[in-house]
Formats: sequence, structure tokens, C-alpha cells
Amino acid sequence: MSEARPVSATTAVEHRHVIAIDGPAAAGKSTVARLLADRLGAMLFDTGVLYRVVALIALRCGAEPSDEDALAHIAREARIRVTPPSQLDGRLYDVWLDGEDVTWAIREPEVGAIVSPVAEHQAVRSALLPLQRAIASAGPVVMVGRDIGTVVVPDAGLKVYLDASPHERARRRYREALGRGSDETFADVLAETRTRDAIDSGRDAAPLREAPDAVRINTDGQSIDAVVAAIESLARAQRMPNGDPVWTS
Ligand code: C5P
Repeated sequence: MSEARPVSATTAVEHRHVIAIDGPAAAGKSTVARLLADRLGAMLFDTGVLYRVVALIALRCGAEPSDEDALAHIAREARIRVTPPSQLDGRLYDVWLDGEDVTWAIREPEVGAIVSPVAEHQAVRSALLPLQRAIASAGPVVMVGRDIGTVVVPDAGLKVYLDASPHERARRRYREALGRGSDETFADVLAETRTRDAIDSGRDAAPLREAPDAVRINTDGQSIDAVVAAIESLARAQRMPNGDPVWTS
């Protein structure tokens, strides 16, 4: 299932207590990261939330997804907080925007339709970088996104690239959407998944890429538990310079 690559001997590892999990939409990153973070006693930070909140604000205030300056301004000004889940409604965490619970609002199809174009802009990404780096430095944390291991925390202690086929990923998103009472069809979800993949991988700014020293795991046909166990054993094998385990809880 996993294909370990040797970590370059010259790679400086400053953020030992950061586990970076990157990969395309609906590869299972957030669910896996939630369970992994709980097992390791780490925080979970799902960076897609930041881009989704910016997209939600843009929709609400009528900013065009092509208007880089307006979107960067939104990204700089947004007061976003992510806290442990306060309700048993399937959420992995609460997302707050100025005191409003937007956990589900940012999952609406209207947001999904514009979030990748919003995230394409370098100015938006730059505006959201300091917060992500501050969270990495506060660690221990499992960070989920597209560019965590390549741009946000290139010296993360462990980097994982989670993948799955587009059909498998769309099936997962479709099941989630049905569970929320959404009327999206499977074809809608598959088309959106493919479109977002193309934009996320093809953009100039921080494209979705596997870091050269990432461990790639294909989750097709794998249970969530098996994937979590595989990453946990990689994490438990990490050592501090003095030989102590990085993860002790
Ligand atoms: O992970 P999620 O599907 O919630 O992310 C929504 C979108 O945010 C992605 O499709 C991508 O365009 C963008 N994103 C990004 N970089 C990240 C996390 C998410 O560009 N680190």
C-alpha cells in the first residue's frame, strides 16, 4: 500500500512534530488526519478550510473569483477560527467566521465550485501562509492540504501523499453529500472532482505535487483504519536527534 522513499540526508527537519498530509480532493485526508491526530495527541489543521472560508466570503460579498486583489484583501481580513467539534453531526472540527459557525456553509456546492479558482491566486496564498506557518510552529499538528509538504512546511517531520482514483474519491464525496441531504448527482460530484484536480495540479502558485520525500499511499480499496495505522507506524518510527521517539503519547 505504501511506497516509502528515502529521506534525503541533507533535508533539515525543523518541524519534527508536523505531519503533512497532501493529496487531491476527497482522498480521505481529513478523516485519516482526524484519527491520526487523536492517536498521536496532536492538533488537526485542515488548510482547505481557509480557502473555503475566503470563497464563502467572496460569494457573500459578490467578489469575482478572478479578482485577485479583492480576494487577497478578504484573505487578510478574515477572522477564521478552527476549534474541536462542538456537535455530533459528522463534523471533524468547528469552523468559525467572526463568531458564526460556518462548518457546513463552506461545504456547500456553491463554495466547492469556486474554491479552486480562488486558491489559484498567489496573493491569496501568500495572505494565508503566515497563519499556516504559525500553526506548524506551535505543533504538534497534523496538517492537511495540497502544498503542506512542498511549500507551507517543507521541513515537516513526516510527509504523506494520499491518493485515490477520481471515481473512488467522487463516490466518497457523493456519499457525504447524500448524508447531508444534498441533491447533487454522482455525475455532478465526479465532474467537480475532476475540475478541481485539474485546477489544483495545473496552477502556477503552489500546485498540488507530491514532495520528493513524501510517502505515497493509495487509499483505493483500503479501510480508513488501515491507512491510519500505516501512517501511525511511520510516525512512531520517527526519532529525535538523541534517538528518542518523536511521538510519545
Ligand atoms: O481540501 P479541500 O477540498 O477542502 O480544499 C478546497 C480547495 O482549497 C482545494 O480544491 C484547493 O483548491 C484549495 N487548497 C489549496 N491548498 C491547500 C488546501 C486547499 O489550494 N493547502
